[in-house]
Amino acid sequence: MKLRIIVIGANAAGAKAASKAKRINPHAEVTLIDRGSFISYGACGIPYFVSDTVGDMKELMSTPVGVVRDAAFFRKVKGVEVITGTEALSIDRKAKTVELFEKGSATTYSLAYDRLVLATGSSPLLPPLKNRELGNILTVKAIEDAVLLKERAVAGKSACIVGGGLIGLETAEALKQKGMKVSLVEMRGQLLPGVLDPEMASLVEKHLRQNGVEVMTGCRVTGFEGAVGVAKVMTEGGELPADLVVLAPGVTPNTQLAADAGLEIGPTGAIAVDSAMRTSDPAIYACGDCCETTHLVTGRKIYLPLGSTANKQGRVAGITPPGGRRHFRASSAPASSKSSASMPGRPASPSPRRAGTDMTSKPSSLLPPTRHTSSPAPSQSP
Ligand SMILES: Cc1cc2nc3c(=O)[nH]c(=O)nc-3n(C[C@H](O)[C@H](O)[C@H](O)COP(=O)(O)OP(=O)(O)OC[C@H]3O[C@@H](n4cnc5c(N)ncnc54)[C@H](O)[C@@H]3O)c2cc1C
Repeated sequence: MKLRIIVIGANAAGAKAASKAKRINPHAEVTLIDRGSFISYGACGIPYFVSDTVGDMKELMSTPVGVVRDAAFFRKVKGVEVITGTEALSIDRKAKTVELFEKGSATTYSLAYDRLVLATGSSPLLPPLKNRELGNILTVKAIEDAVLLKERAVAGKSACIVGGGLIGLETAEALKQKGMKVSLVEMRGQLLPGVLDPEMASLVEKHLRQNGVEVMTGCRVTGFEGAVGVAKVMTEGGELPADLVVLAPGVTPNTQLAADAGLEIGPTGAIAVDSAMRTSDPAIYACGDCCETTHLVTGRKIYLPLGSTANKQGRVAGITPPGGRRHFRASSAPASSKSSASMPGRPASPSPRRAGTDMTSKPSSLLPPTRHTSSPAPSQSP
């Protein structure tokens, strides 16, 4: 009988795991399942789609030669069966089945697996803020969010970003480039907390201010005011006008499916895995934003929701026995970003840039010249 490998979640980690699993075990039946309709897209490119640097959202889900990575692509090119619009509701570890809910037909059915890979990713953290349900209070995570944000980003109107991490900063830049008046509120005492030392963070803050972004650090947002849509952001330091709010205070791992199945959740709150990406059940693997990783320097378990880590972990999770085994031992957790020269008020870049490829141009780069990255590459098992 053919080996049956099911992968739940079809973005960075899951798509990689499924492709690798099929390559390693060509006779296996590999099925990739996602509750959404878009698969294998680069969320990292979302700010560049919002700012119009990337014109067509299809570019976020295309190969370098412009082929869209959709279900047909995975079937034809990778030999992987793809089921979208279908949510995994539960796992029966004893029977080795996954219960699935097909949204379109509202039907529930079960699929059997020999190996299961969980790549359920993460969701935006939603702090319990007053009037959070008002219109135009958005998050950035998936393609649908990107399309909505781009639609609502109107030049001349004001936008407020809640959260001064990498996504908050990139979104601030994108909205500024769309001609919006942008403010950014970070509750910790500096921008990019946990990424930069305060001295470096103050340079980033200065750069943003010089480019017309109003920055408030050490300041907590308490809620929102408005009639139907948001009009004001209330903070401990006063109120800010906002026709649009983007909540970017971080992400939380999607662990419900794993936790309900009794899989171990690690100290970081993400799914516990060993270096072969195996969970506490040897038939179930996990990779990407839903699971934890190990810090290369401290040896401690950390939560590192990065696309680069997700890809590498996905590759390792796909190399399951009998085809082989690999290890993702640790990540040194570096992160980098850029603050663009093309923000209004700065000299224009001498040549056009493409999202994620601007590794070398500098005058305005404040951080080392790579995008958010993690390392090292997976190592082969002895
Ligand atoms: C705006 C933005 C910019 C970013 N920039 C960078 C960057 O520059 N560099 C970098 O390294 N990282 C970046 N990231 C982070 C990177 O996008 C994520 O780390 C990466 O997408 C994680 O991939 P994943 O496959 O683990 O999870 P996700 O991308 O979260 O995908 C999980 C998938 O699982 C599906 N799913 C979840 N539960 C179920 C279920 N029960 N049944 C069926 N399907 C399910 C979801 O629909 C989703 O498609 C950025 C993220 C954002 C939002």
